[in-house]
Amino acid sequence: AIFQLDIPRFLGQAVDHATGLLGGAKASQGAAEDALWAAAGLLIGAAILRGLFTMLHNYLGEAIGQRTAYELRLAYFEKLQRLSFSYHDHVHSGDLMTRGMLDIEGVRRFVEHGILRPILLVMLVVGGAYIYMGSDLVLGLLSLSFVPFALWRASVFRLKSRALWRILQERLSHLTRIMEENLGGIRVVRAFAGQDFEIQKFDESSAKALAVAIQRVGVRYANTSIMTYAYFLAMGLVLWVGGQKVLDGEVTVGELTQFLAFMTVLQMPIRQTGMVINGIARASVSGVRLFEILDIEPAVQDRPDAQNLEIKDGVLRFENVAFSYAGTPENDPGDVTIKEINFEVRAGQTVGIVGPPGSGKSTIAHLIPRFYDVTSGRITIDGQDIRDVTLDSLRAAVGVVQQDTFLFTSEIDANVAYGEPWAEQERVVSATESAQLHAYIENLPQGYDTIVGERGVSLSGGQRQRLSIARSVMLTPLFMVFDDSTAAIDAATEQRIRVALKEVTKERATIVISHRLPSLMHADEILFLDEGSIVERGNHDSLLAQNGRYRALYDLQAGLTENSGEAADG
Ligand code: ADP
Repeated sequence: AIFQLDIPRFLGQAVDHATGLLGGAKASQGAAEDALWAAAGLLIGAAILRGLFTMLHNYLGEAIGQRTAYELRLAYFEKLQRLSFSYHDHVHSGDLMTRGMLDIEGVRRFVEHGILRPILLVMLVVGGAYIYMGSDLVLGLLSLSFVPFALWRASVFRLKSRALWRILQERLSHLTRIMEENLGGIRVVRAFAGQDFEIQKFDESSAKALAVAIQRVGVRYANTSIMTYAYFLAMGLVLWVGGQKVLDGEVTVGELTQFLAFMTVLQMPIRQTGMVINGIARASVSGVRLFEILDIEPAVQDRPDAQNLEIKDGVLRFENVAFSYAGTPENDPGDVTIKEINFEVRAGQTVGIVGPPGSGKSTIAHLIPRFYDVTSGRITIDGQDIRDVTLDSLRAAVGVVQQDTFLFTSEIDANVAYGEPWAEQERVVSATESAQLHAYIENLPQGYDTIVGERGVSLSGGQRQRLSIARSVMLTPLFMVFDDSTAAIDAATEQRIRVALKEVTKERATIVISHRLPSLMHADEILFLDEGSIVERGNHDSLLAQNGRYRALYDLQAGLTENSGEAADG
């Protein structure tokens, strides 16, 4: 700013010396010529320094912007790793991705252009006013006469632009959501020939985003033009009034030149205010959207005084547990997903949970590693409420094999060893042997190095489930929960897995959830769940003797398999 403000001054002096040269006496010509050279030298020096500082300013602006974006991205991703399941239940991942990409970009641009440039503009205007008002008040005032007008336009523009950016970011989020859902459900789309429908849906959403984007661009350039007009008007006034003053002998040609040159210095920053304000408006919208996520306190997290779980006997106990996805069963008792759940499983034992779909079986599985916290009652491990221990130690002790399996785009062995990437190959192999997957992998051309594609598309449903079982048993957690994890596996293979796992789970406490009775008939206790409550319980024989729901289900399934021996494993 300082060097930019010096340039008009040196220019004015040079012009005055030059006019002196033209009209002055012969005797003073030498001195005037020297002064002209000196002014020209200063001018060049100031211009070079100005250029260097501008370069530095731009470099720093971009570098700080990039670093800020890097840190924000990392903080954002770290936050995503800690958000609780209940949050993910009602938020689209496409929306989270848009925030992580577009909104961080919005903040980055602001840091790049929106901080240093306004400071420079303010310094130029204030410094210019200070220097040049002193030389001629009227011309000084005239040359800055556009500033109040530009400020007013800028604030109007900022508000309009912010409102439009908010709508635009939401519409872009929506667009990402459509694309994400489309790619996730690509098989359904193709199977039902839904391409045209999907394209139309995308087109509509995209057109809506385009409309706002164009409106925003219109507002931006209209404002930039209005501000530039005001600026040139002020310049015209300076020229007109200044010209009169020169004729009247009140100011020299050099002084007038100085004012005009000063205004030229302001031209660039004034033109850039459109960009700057646009950036500020976008960043204020993007910042809100980002910090909405960054400021969330995860519903499930370590208590400040949380201790590591201490395992002594290995007893997991549900004590009068109720849970509602909505949070408060007291307010709406009809909303409770499970209630009055009491049971215990200890090392070496197996508890089976069976019941119709939607009865709350998976919900019970989700409560044990604290994917959700119980709404009332408590779950303890060796007497410690699981809400009082650290999540890391809890989740290390509890292995949940989930119903749907996610495979990372990576080698098979990296997928199996996801929980412990540095594990020896023997452990990986022994886990896949238990899960009855080893023989299949061995026969692949690349064996354990085979890359399983996006979402593991190259594996069948049953193979993916077996990989998922291997992934969990490899960690040898003390508590194992199998949540319908063999649903896609044929009965014979499942039986082999069960026999193999018997050895592995001998010392462990196991909970098996299944709709297929043979998967859990051998359990020490079986809970029959209906509408969130345990309606029957006991071991296989006592439940059969009760002649109730379990018996009916058993007869039905036994009839279906025609007593094919599937039930024989026990
Ligand atoms: P099951 O495993 O026995 O089929 P779930 O435990 O999955 O049953 O579901 C029990 C009930 O809770 C169902 O009515 C289901 O709609 C509901 N539910 C499951 N997951 C959620 C969730 N994330 N948010 C809200 N409700 C859910």
